[in-house]
Amino acid sequence: MTESELHHAVTLGVIASAVPTWLALRYVSAPYGRHVRGGFGPSLPARLGWVLMESPASLVWLAIFALGTHTLEPAPLVLCALWQLHYVNRAFLLPMRMKPDGKRMPVLIAGLAIAFNIVNAYVNARQVSELGHYGTAWLVSPPFLGGTALFLTGRHLNVRADEALIALRNEGRGYQIPRGPYFRWISCPNYAAEILEWCGWALATWSFAGLSFAVYTLANLAPRALTHHAWYRAKFPDYPPERRALIPGIW
Ligand code: NDP
Repeated sequence: MTESELHHAVTLGVIASAVPTWLALRYVSAPYGRHVRGGFGPSLPARLGWVLMESPASLVWLAIFALGTHTLEPAPLVLCALWQLHYVNRAFLLPMRMKPDGKRMPVLIAGLAIAFNIVNAYVNARQVSELGHYGTAWLVSPPFLGGTALFLTGRHLNVRADEALIALRNEGRGYQIPRGPYFRWISCPNYAAEILEWCGWALATWSFAGLSFAVYTLANLAPRALTHHAWYRAKFPDYPPERRALIPGIW
């Protein structure tokens, strides 16, 4: 089996795993954050869990990227910068801003996320610095420009929406109804923006690898958005009725 064939098979595996992920999360909410509960084995502090589970997406990705033949070429370097722009924040900055208030997360959740992030790092970093063909002209191609615009827009909205949610926690009153422009029409703009971001990545890399992560992110976050939305409705009788989970006016 060549490496291309292996890479293709692993990428197919990521896409295939989106189906059971979606189905499982429709019935069992992932036990972290507001949905944390017992019965999932040993746990660790939530902030540590976030750093441990997200750091491979930055560090392992970078190590695999560095091993590629095309590592020092302009287009792979720009794609690397986009990826790291997202994951340095997610793995190292966001956990420091969160206010977990002593909350914990199951080791199982962190372990599954670490495993996924290592596989995903292989799929996407190898695509960018070894298996894909991104000459300098790629930087002015329509898929790259459109995808990068989507990615950066998604990233901006994702970070702003996460900050707004964490600021609610800073007020020291536990969970509240989020208000403001990001939350006017949907309960989970941070998730919607994250999905947009990885659709942008799929476009900017024009690859099956990028598509696999966009599909997986959708399968992971859409059911959780429904669960969050139902939780808000159950917890707050005055929750804005026009608000939907993820897609304004629709879903
Ligand atoms: P949440 O929206 O559940 O929470 C984000 C942060 O805000 C948490 O610190 C949370 O506290 C706090 N918070 C949320 N809602 C409220 C509220 N109403 N009142 C007060 N505080 C609140 O996001 P996640 O924790 O699930 O995810 C964090 C980031 O990671 C997001 O940007 C998400 O898109 C991304 N992510 C990406 C995945 C992917 O597949 N690519 C998978 C999972 C997450 P607490 O944790 O205590 O509830």
